[in-house]
Amino acid sequence: MTTTNARPRSFDHIRHAALGEYQDLRRAVDALGQRLDREQNETLSRTGFVELVTDMARTSYAADNCETCQEPCWPYRAKVDAAWMDGTYLCPRCKRTWYCGYTTDLALLP
Ligand SMILES: [Zn+2]
Repeated sequence: MTTTNARPRSFDHIRHAALGEYQDLRRAVDALGQRLDREQNETLSRTGFVELVTDMARTSYAADNCETCQEPCWPYRAKVDAAWMDGTYLCPRCKRTWYCGYTTDLALLP
């Protein structure tokens, strides 16, 4: 998926805004954006940042626990083909990498 326009769009999240998880996610996205800005990551444009966060949301269901330390992890790379996703995982605690596959045929996705 390519996001061609990273500018804000109209939205209304009132049904979710009171949830602690919603506020936690907003803080985490803001913190990531600020860190990337501080590091002046010239390879990541605003559009790239929006795509990064969008990819995270699209694969949020694909968590897998590290076999070594049981840390829940999400894919940092995914190859999607038809109804299947091959994810590559990195445990931030022990730095182990592994692969795990998931269906992309979810009832939640249109
Ligand atoms: Zn680990």
